[in-house]
Amino acid sequence: MRAEERTFVAIKPDGVQRGLIGDIVKRFETKGYKVTALKMLQVTDAQAKAHYAEHEGKPFYPRLIRYIQSGPIVAMVVEGYNAVAGVRHLMGSTDPDKAEVGTIRADFAQVMEYNVVHGSDSVESAEREIAIYFNEKEIFDDRKCMSELVTEYLDAD
Ligand code: UDP
Ligand code: MG
Repeated sequence: MRAEERTFVAIKPDGVQRGLIGDIVKRFETKGYKVTALKMLQVTDAQAKAHYAEHEGKPFYPRLIRYIQSGPIVAMVVEGYNAVAGVRHLMGSTDPDKAEVGTIRADFAQVMEYNVVHGSDSVESAEREIAIYFNEKEIFDDRKCMSELVTEYLDAD
């Protein structure tokens, strides 16, 4: 049985600058995942280093750090069944040229370096990455408020 999971998603600076925030968030919402936290922020040196620690020392690392800090990102927590793998499936392969048509990276990006989205690669990475960008108070899990309000309103007649 697949578990309800949460994952960390970021719309990278190129996605924000190109006006793709709505299109990208829509992919996750249409799938049925819940966006339980969302904010725009400028990634600090410490956040960039922590986020991409696994890539330190690789040839593309300096460019990657520059890229993720080149403008604001939109950081999100996305929840749903099997959400870690599911989000990466919707995002497509790291290289947009190899990603399946219909995925975010195939549809919205051209080169591996600037591939518009990030998604955690495991439940452990997700928890680690969420903690870099959010505190627990910024993550919301109760979507019942509207239906309770509507029910109250309708019952009031
Ligand atoms: N990246 C790059 N060149 C590479 C591999 C990765 O510029 O050869 C960048 C790319 O933006 C990618 C990020 O580094 O999204 C993190 O790489 P990773 O292998 O973790 O890919 P992802 O998990 O994002 O698919
Ligand atoms: Mg990765």
